[in-house]
Amino acid sequence: MHPHVRHLVELQAVDIRLNEVLARLATFPKHLVEVNARVEAARSQLAHAKDALTKSLKDRKTYEMDVDQWKEKVRKYKDQTGAVKSNEAFRALRLEIEMAEKEIAAAEDRLLERMVAGEDFVRQVKAAEKAIAEIEAAAKVEQQAISAEYSTAEKIRVALEAERQKAASAVPEDLLDIYLKLASRHNGVALAEVREDETCSMCRVRVRPHTYQLLRDPSNEQIFHCETCTRILYCPPQPLAQPQPVAQSSESGEN
Ligand SMILES: [Zn+2]
Repeated sequence: MHPHVRHLVELQAVDIRLNEVLARLATFPKHLVEVNARVEAARSQLAHAKDALTKSLKDRKTYEMDVDQWKEKVRKYKDQTGAVKSNEAFRALRLEIEMAEKEIAAAEDRLLERMVAGEDFVRQVKAAEKAIAEIEAAAKVEQQAISAEYSTAEKIRVALEAERQKAASAVPEDLLDIYLKLASRHNGVALAEVREDETCSMCRVRVRPHTYQLLRDPSNEQIFHCETCTRILYCPPQPLAQPQPVAQSSESGEN
């Protein structure tokens, strides 16, 4: 194999691992945002339930005051009945009292309704508080796991960057430039192995027999590109000839 291509094969292997780890690192912020959004949603639900409860308690106070005010009026009217001189005035007061008593009943109905609703709001607040405690605990576990995964991936990235630097420094600049352009065009994969059936492993198109021959020649000093996908071609080094199997009988004979 061309010595520069051999270095490119090493660089490609590092780059593939590096791209994987970079892709993994890129998923962490989104994952964290999702976890935080769940907590935020639970918090806003709790705030909503608390607001509803506060409003309900305020309404209840208002209706209680309404009841008290109407009762006070009734008491005053009743006090006045003893002092009226005419039947007409007496009837007018009786009417006022009846009206006020109706208002008392209506205010008491509203008050009761608020009291029942208030119990419901208390239950909702309690449920939201319980839910938020569970969601926050689960989120904390998830955040810790994400952070641990992140720092592991980050360590791998730093190590791979160093490895990449070393591999890239062995490649001449102009060839590295071509490699980078091809990598960016081909989703990070600038090299293609030529398979035993003489096809490009990436685009599956057959390479010329002469090219294949040269690629397999250890003394070849030319760089070839796939005529179809333009990636840099290489043939993995051929395994050495199989050593002669040692006969079982001769081995046992030596012992
Ligand atoms: Zn190809």
